[in-house]
Amino acid sequence: MAVETLTFGCRLNAYEATVMKAEAEKAGLDNAVLINTCAVTEEAVRQARRAVRKARRDHPAARIIVTGCAAQTQARSFGDMEEVDLVIGNNDKMQAASYAPLVFGTPLNDKVQVNDIMSVRETAGHLIEGMDGRARAFVQVQNGCDHRCTFCIIPFGRGPSRSVPMGVVVEQVKKLVANGYGEVVLTGVDITSYGPDLPGTPSLGKLVQAILRHVPDLPRLRISSIDSIEADAALYDTVASERRLMPHMHLSLQSGDDMVLKRMKRRHSRDDALAIMAKLRALRPEMVFGADIIAGFPTEDDAMFANTLAIVSEARLTHLHVFPYSPREGTPAARMPQVSQSIARERAKLLRAAGEAEFKALCASRVGRVETVLMERNGVGRTEQYLPVRVPAAQPGDLLAVRIMASRDAGLVGEAVREAA
Ligand code: SF4
Repeated sequence: MAVETLTFGCRLNAYEATVMKAEAEKAGLDNAVLINTCAVTEEAVRQARRAVRKARRDHPAARIIVTGCAAQTQARSFGDMEEVDLVIGNNDKMQAASYAPLVFGTPLNDKVQVNDIMSVRETAGHLIEGMDGRARAFVQVQNGCDHRCTFCIIPFGRGPSRSVPMGVVVEQVKKLVANGYGEVVLTGVDITSYGPDLPGTPSLGKLVQAILRHVPDLPRLRISSIDSIEADAALYDTVASERRLMPHMHLSLQSGDDMVLKRMKRRHSRDDALAIMAKLRALRPEMVFGADIIAGFPTEDDAMFANTLAIVSEARLTHLHVFPYSPREGTPAARMPQVSQSIARERAKLLRAAGEAEFKALCASRVGRVETVLMERNGVGRTEQYLPVRVPAAQPGDLLAVRIMASRDAGLVGEAVREAA
């Protein structure tokens, strides 16, 4: 058996899993399962533990290595699992040397080898050839977070904000385009914090402009989750002027109520979020938005929740990620008066239903149009607005002009008219 990776959580973790596998193989590791965990909710941590047990059952003789955000923040609890051979941290997982003890059979005095992530100040660039089975590739531009939202454990799993130098990002995008990728998605933990630690202090907008300028053959560039209040002028300019920047943004919104946002220590208000989305739509009318929203944050009452529910339709949020609040030990919100789990779950259900209604309305509005679709797997591709489209007989990686014939619950159905220009 070679090296197998199981990854949980965000796009950054997915990108890092590709690097981890390459680094582990470079070190000479084989017969191993790397489990790249997420700590964003208690449920994510439970999933990681289940994955560890299953990996051991399925591969009794393999080395099981646990890493990622849950391994970083709860290292000892994974070290205590008898199924686990080694626990390494989020920074260590990106370096071949971390896998060497298992390759050479070096005795370890402790199978938990997790370094202090808060002292990491740089993010090394790792050039990848591509991502298994995908037509879209994720590229890391930043890691870590300097903010302290009261609900969030991520800064303790990822460390301080640090940026990948512009030249490294541009080289990475060039390499992926040369390898046939039709779309690149810029990822990080807090990508609107890009740049202040680099020479010349570039911004995310400047990075986006540099990529589009230096990689003219890149068909599509997408940016993943952003903290909208930190978006810079160059990013707005590029939204207005560059068709290759996709008209779809995912916002770290979290709530639509000002008191909850304040208690979360977010840096935007409800009106700020609405104004930013309106400005982006004025620049690019087809712009669509997704959002991360937490349901049942501590102290959230019915009126506060109503404000959050209302913002879904007010802002036409079509791609929602809803999380029922789950307390993370060590965060300020875990010590605030809690909302019951059943209420949080019920509110999450209502938010998801509101998001689905917006998603269906957007899908219905695209029927009869010709959309540019990048094909992914199993006959399904994505439009520029990130809507899934089923296109019979199309192959992964095809970039097609597709006439949208119908809208179904899970997305669109279309027919290829020609290759996209
Ligand atoms: S950065 Fe956040 S979402 Fe990504 S893996 Fe870590 S905890 Fe999960």
